[in-house]
Amino acid sequence: MKSNDRSKLGDYRRKRDASVTNEPFGDDAPASSSREGTTAGAYVVHLHDATRRHYDLRLEIGGVLASFAVPHGLALDPERKHLAVKTEDHPIEYLEFEDVIPEKQYGAGPMIAWDRGSVTYLEGPAEDEVAQGKLHVELRGLKLRGRFALVRLAKGETGNEWLLFKKQDEHASKDRVITEELPRSIYSGLTVDELEGAAAIGAAHVARAFELGAKRLGAAAARELSARDRSPLVVAASGETPRGEGWVYDAQLEGLRVVASRDGDVVSIALWGANGSAETVEAFYPEVVRALRALPLTRIVIDGELCAFDASGHPSLSRLAQRALQIAKGDAHRATTFTPVTLVAQDLLVVGDADVRSLPLSQRRELLASIMPDVGFLRAAPPLEGPTASILELCAAHGIPGVVAKKKSAPYEPKKAGWLSLSSGVAPRSRAIVDHRAADPSRAVRQVTITNRGKIFWPDEGYTKGDLCDYYANVADVVLPYLVSRPVILVRYPDGIAGKSFFQWNVPPGMPAWVRTLSIPGDEGEKKRGFLIDDAPTLLYVANLACIPLHILAARMPDLAQADFFTVDFDVKQSELRHAVTLATTLRKLLEAIGLEGLPKTSGQSGLHVLVPLGRGQSFETARALADLLGKLLVEQHPDIATMDRVVTRRGARVYVDTGQTGRSRAIVAPYSVRAVAGAQVSTPLDWDEITPDLDPRAFTIKTLPARLAKHGDPMSGLLEAKPDVARAVTALSGVVGSRAR
Ligand code: MN
Repeated sequence: MKSNDRSKLGDYRRKRDASVTNEPFGDDAPASSSREGTTAGAYVVHLHDATRRHYDLRLEIGGVLASFAVPHGLALDPERKHLAVKTEDHPIEYLEFEDVIPEKQYGAGPMIAWDRGSVTYLEGPAEDEVAQGKLHVELRGLKLRGRFALVRLAKGETGNEWLLFKKQDEHASKDRVITEELPRSIYSGLTVDELEGAAAIGAAHVARAFELGAKRLGAAAARELSARDRSPLVVAASGETPRGEGWVYDAQLEGLRVVASRDGDVVSIALWGANGSAETVEAFYPEVVRALRALPLTRIVIDGELCAFDASGHPSLSRLAQRALQIAKGDAHRATTFTPVTLVAQDLLVVGDADVRSLPLSQRRELLASIMPDVGFLRAAPPLEGPTASILELCAAHGIPGVVAKKKSAPYEPKKAGWLSLSSGVAPRSRAIVDHRAADPSRAVRQVTITNRGKIFWPDEGYTKGDLCDYYANVADVVLPYLVSRPVILVRYPDGIAGKSFFQWNVPPGMPAWVRTLSIPGDEGEKKRGFLIDDAPTLLYVANLACIPLHILAARMPDLAQADFFTVDFDVKQSELRHAVTLATTLRKLLEAIGLEGLPKTSGQSGLHVLVPLGRGQSFETARALADLLGKLLVEQHPDIATMDRVVTRRGARVYVDTGQTGRSRAIVAPYSVRAVAGAQVSTPLDWDEITPDLDPRAFTIKTLPARLAKHGDPMSGLLEAKPDVARAVTALSGVVGSRAR
């Protein structure tokens, strides 16, 4: 596997081993992006504790991130000109990257996302500015604001040395050192020094909750809290003035009240309509989802307000409405860059396995403040305290229509929560229609945009990434039953079959909230991550990630410890297909004799697979024992053409009968999966009368399969419905083995 040198990201990919680092490998920029040049885009600043600690400023230019390493960071004082060394272009997905780059890898060390926002190129297309060695930009970020300049040094040693400095404007400052003032990540809220110990920091938050008297979150409560129809506490309409101490105030923001929860990698954001029904809207707020996934906790439930801020810093419903439209049009990148949203958290229900709802509000708020980033897409609402009259005066002065007064001692329980809504006398601004239904997130937003359709994935045939995606879209109805509720292991080929490939074990940055993943317990206690591909949009999403083959486990949710089929793999790499045909036919007879059914398919490369359905409730040990015994019988009957020898050199020209593909974390290529081989062959289920010496697996490709399926249907459809008597089969097989021994 070699990297594709023609790619804009060739340098980037050459420096990294995608099987080791979690950094995104990246799609290439669409060819059209460079035609007119880039006038605006996204930027991100990372703080990177590599061999030498530095900041990385990355500016979107031509669909990739032009990157500058800045050892001394970004200064607001125009007189401080800092060296910025231009490095290799990074993929656009790097906007969301934050992780520890493993030892011995390029750039090893922790890296946090320190700032993010939009960049405007003030003096023409960025491509021209870079060529001229002078970039004049305006940044609008969570932390950085105003104009900056990058100027290439004429006398630099390598031509990559630039100077970065603040231009004079109202955001310039001689005194503020923003890197020291705001050192934390905009996603996780952690400092770069804390990132490696993130789990311990998360555990400390949970321990603190228990110390305060939180209850352990029971299974029933966890279910209740993750239920999407759970409504938030309702604010009681009241003009009564709270008396005495013991109240805290939250400004009434022009936002959307939601309950957001994270469980593992799955994030749900629920919004309640006037009629009390909930919508889940996480697909509209990818930056909030990203931040929730970055918190050093596997579980959290927050009550808060989604806000988009206008130019003067006020939360604005019309901005949110504008946002929803951009997302509905499929332009999430533009929406998150130019109209970012923040979840202003006002209450905490769950942290880790601690249920904090019974704690007093003041303690829930204390925990919340310690968990939330200070600047970012998640933020704790600043609690307002003091005499009611002065709070309302303050609100009126700032144009805030009112406050919600909350009793500090109240638990998070309907009726006991002690909430009062108070008006400051300022009229609320016109309420805009943030209508998520106009673009139903379950349909509109799940519509996956296929990028780089024209990119060649199979050079010999000229088949493209678009051909791959079209194939999976065409056969979705047939392939999905084999994927539903079953962990799928992904291998990505961003440059097609001739380029580098890698397993996607982790959640890729930018993964939509509706894509589900789960961890797979391995045979040796190791944990891997699988994807759940339960519907056509998710299938298309992974196809667009350039996942050519789909590997499935022989187990389905909810019990991944039980096998529902086993596989006998006839590997003919050193032999011939006609011998595999003989062996598969013999296996079919052996299976019939013990009351089991075998379902054959091409491997999609040169060999054959026979899948044997087991129904539900079989252990992997039973499945593996059956497979091994059958394999041994086959080798005994056909010693000249079959072997189970693990040592490749001892196999000679025999078919390798591989029964080792059945196990808790073993995956086989799914029926109708495409293979990353010449010809774009597909692993194709066949009728037994097609298993003849004339069989040619090369006939089954992404181009021929849709017509074949229309004509023949799916010969493997019995795999998932079969309910064989496995106990009887085991007894019968022991009989066969026993009689042979006598
Ligand atoms: Mn760096």
